[in-house]
Amino acid sequence: MGEPGHTPIAGSLAETSRGARRSRQRRRIIFSELALTVTFTLSTLHGIAEREELTSLPVFLTAWLLNLLVLVLCCTVPWSRIPSRWVIVVPLVDFVAIGLSRAAAGESMPGIGLLAAFPVVWIAASRVRTGTAVAVAAAASLTMVWLPLPLGRPITFDALFDPILLPVMLCGLAWFVSSLTKDNRQRQEALRASQAALRESVEAGRTRERLLNTVLDTVSVGLLAVDADGHDVLMNARQRAVHSAAAPPGNADPNESELLLFGPDRVTPIPPEARPVRRAIHGEDLDAEQVWVGTGRSQRALSIFSHAMHDDDGTFAGTVVSFHDVTELVLALQAKDDFLSNVSHEFRTPLTSILGYLELTLERDGNLPDGVAGHLEVARRNAVRLERLVEDLLAINAGSFRVDPVPTDVGRVLAEAASSGQVRATRAGLRLVNRAPSTLPAVVDPVRLAQAVDNLLTNAVKYNRKGGSITLNACRSDDGLIVEVADTGIGIEEDDLHQIFDRFFRSPSVRTSTVPGVGLGLLITKTIVTEHRGSITVTSERGKGTCFTILIPQPALGTVLA
Ligand code: ADP
Repeated sequence: MGEPGHTPIAGSLAETSRGARRSRQRRRIIFSELALTVTFTLSTLHGIAEREELTSLPVFLTAWLLNLLVLVLCCTVPWSRIPSRWVIVVPLVDFVAIGLSRAAAGESMPGIGLLAAFPVVWIAASRVRTGTAVAVAAAASLTMVWLPLPLGRPITFDALFDPILLPVMLCGLAWFVSSLTKDNRQRQEALRASQAALRESVEAGRTRERLLNTVLDTVSVGLLAVDADGHDVLMNARQRAVHSAAAPPGNADPNESELLLFGPDRVTPIPPEARPVRRAIHGEDLDAEQVWVGTGRSQRALSIFSHAMHDDDGTFAGTVVSFHDVTELVLALQAKDDFLSNVSHEFRTPLTSILGYLELTLERDGNLPDGVAGHLEVARRNAVRLERLVEDLLAINAGSFRVDPVPTDVGRVLAEAASSGQVRATRAGLRLVNRAPSTLPAVVDPVRLAQAVDNLLTNAVKYNRKGGSITLNACRSDDGLIVEVADTGIGIEEDDLHQIFDRFFRSPSVRTSTVPGVGLGLLITKTIVTEHRGSITVTSERGKGTCFTILIPQPALGTVLA
């Protein structure tokens, strides 16, 4: 495996940029020198035009030729193979050429010295420090203006300091250009650094995006993100598959309202405005919304969740919707319900017959041999229990218990429930106390209320401990009728409390015990209470006991008694 940054592609990219940099440097050298050579040549030609005898001065011509030679070298030297610091030789030789030319031409070409500005700028703009640039400019220009002195006039104080303006000017220029270049270079470096950081963060963003896309396409959940205007901004592979499965035949790219979406019965289309995604786009949070998509054998059940996104100022910014394929689960539950319903129906007829004959035998035949009546009574009791279980299963499968609330004396209903509970309690060694008033008018379904209270009393007996007690109480409050069943039994774990009204739920500790039950009693009780538009609550402490409270809203008392 290659190291990061040393891959063949990275290597060839670096090579390309290095090559481009070198050819830029070569061009810069040639054009810089060409600018001087053109100016030098024009000045020289102008000087010759003014003073023809200049052509007879070998130093003058040598200087010119030297400059031309430097230009030729600039064009031919393989700069890429020479250390870059050697480039500085070019402006230094230029100094010599300009100095010789100035010395030869003397006063006849006073402006020729100004050409020294070219090498000065060159040196100052290269990577040397400002001090070095100024020092080189000073040394070169002083040499240039003082060199002719020994050749011509005597060296006096005035002769030394008369031409000092040019070196001063060139030093200032060197300092100025060097500072500017340094500033510019710093800015370029900062720009390069920020470009590199930007490139890095773009690359990191791409890597994150690739990772996110891979994760999204790997999960087995369909995911869709939409913006505030309802436009798709993200859809993973799974969701794309679901989308195409929900497309009507002949429409490869349907919009949301054209998708084949059905309710729980699998055939009733969901109207566009009630569709989960439409509602999610309008800011609604969905929690396990179930729909069927597609038709025929490829129809799938989806459980849909969504969560709205909001900006910092709380404005709706879109939503994320997840689609879980729950087809297998839904079909398994359906199969279980069908099985329970069929089995219950099959049980009911023979059970009714068994019970009928048992009761007939027990009622009519008074001369049964010793013990037989007792055995038949046990058989009858168990048959009644079985019949009740069958009834419960059928009622639960049907989905609801119809209640028919009528003005009722709840005191009497509770007294009857307490007295049949009393038999079971005494047999289990428990004490059952009925604290409910003997008369308590309310509007309830007496049979269903009795069934609900009976379930609670049965549980209070089943999940109690030897020597424990059960208290039944009831009253009217401003909120309605309150019925309470409290026991001093084993109690319920806090973690189980939120599940005890679920279908077939039994506490783990109870499941491993010998206490009979199938986990339907509390669900039936809750369904009865809910059908009365009431509520049931539970408080419990492990090892101390449990208290169930039923609240059924009531019309004003006068109405009840009338
Ligand atoms: P079943 O009694 O047939 O198991 P229920 O629906 O009546 O089913 O009760 C569900 C579960 O709730 C029980 O299995 C038991 O774990 C718990 N439970 C119900 N009532 C009580 C109670 N009074 N004390 C302790 N646990 C209870």
